[in-house]
Amino acid sequence: MELLKEIDQIHKKFPIVDAHSDILFDVVRQRQLGRKRVIETDYLPKFIEGGVNIIVASLFIDDMFIPEMALRRALDQIASLHMEMDESKDKIMLCKSYKDIEKAMKDEKIAILLSFEGVEPLYNDLNLLRVFYELGVRMVGLCWSRRNYAADGCYFTPMKEGKKGGLTAFGVSLIEMAEALGMFIDVSHLNDEGFWEVLEIAKKPIIASHSNCRSLVPVMRNLTDEQIKAIAKKKGVIGMNIANKFVAKEGNLANTEKLVDHIDYIVNLVGIHHVGFGFDFCDPLRKYDLPNPNPSEDKFFDTLSGHGKIKSITKELINRKYKEEDIKLILGGNFLRIYKEVL
Ligand SMILES: [Zn+2]
Repeated sequence: MELLKEIDQIHKKFPIVDAHSDILFDVVRQRQLGRKRVIETDYLPKFIEGGVNIIVASLFIDDMFIPEMALRRALDQIASLHMEMDESKDKIMLCKSYKDIEKAMKDEKIAILLSFEGVEPLYNDLNLLRVFYELGVRMVGLCWSRRNYAADGCYFTPMKEGKKGGLTAFGVSLIEMAEALGMFIDVSHLNDEGFWEVLEIAKKPIIASHSNCRSLVPVMRNLTDEQIKAIAKKKGVIGMNIANKFVAKEGNLANTEKLVDHIDYIVNLVGIHHVGFGFDFCDPLRKYDLPNPNPSEDKFFDTLSGHGKIKSITKELINRKYKEEDIKLILGGNFLRIYKEVL
């Protein structure tokens, strides 16, 4: 009982950041079905239960919309967010600066930041980056787990592919322009070739918004020790992902303890200042999956059942003797440091 109180107090006292959410992917579809106030109805209660203050909402584009409809789909997602804000004025706020984030927290609203999860909406037009900056996009994930005009992604499981690519000339210009505008780069989903090129080009802190440790779970979506060290050297932060297959070698065994093992691993390797959360809750999106032609295949599932369960992580951190000031950094302090520095 005492422990539960302690956890509640910690969550009330310190801002909690989720550096990667596909919430708009869901919101845009739900609104097409005629629903309104989707965030307020379906998400807000869990944000409140988990004490979440800041959500980075990604602009992710399904394969079926690429290439022609990618721009339209991204704009639809942003439009949906604005309509949701109109309907839930005192509950959510799009934030374009650190000041905005502070204002949202003061007004007890959920602060929403925008990111690209793949730059397909730009196709090959850098001018559009400026437009998306004006619309509020502040983090640029160059690609999802596929190749686009800027970069080449890494797959979730090994598959037949041709020679891997690194960044394109467009990708290089994109990084330079994004940083000049006041955005920063997210390397989750990039392949290793592209990762090291970003590290050479980027001058600002970089993040891996939703990737874990490859030494613990050897999948390409997770980061090697050298990559973790390189991100730390650039003063970046790595958001822990709760997808079972990135948390545990045998995905079925994924649980909070195994998730916190990834936090421990990063803290032991590079210290406390480079780890946070990019939960990437996907279970609420499974309803949109096409039927799997191979149903016996291991399924992806979320290690935690929604933001409300963040408390189980805090509990595990307390059990492992993390001090309150360290928990503060993991819950959100580390990501906030970058938002303050760059936005
Ligand atoms: Zn992702």
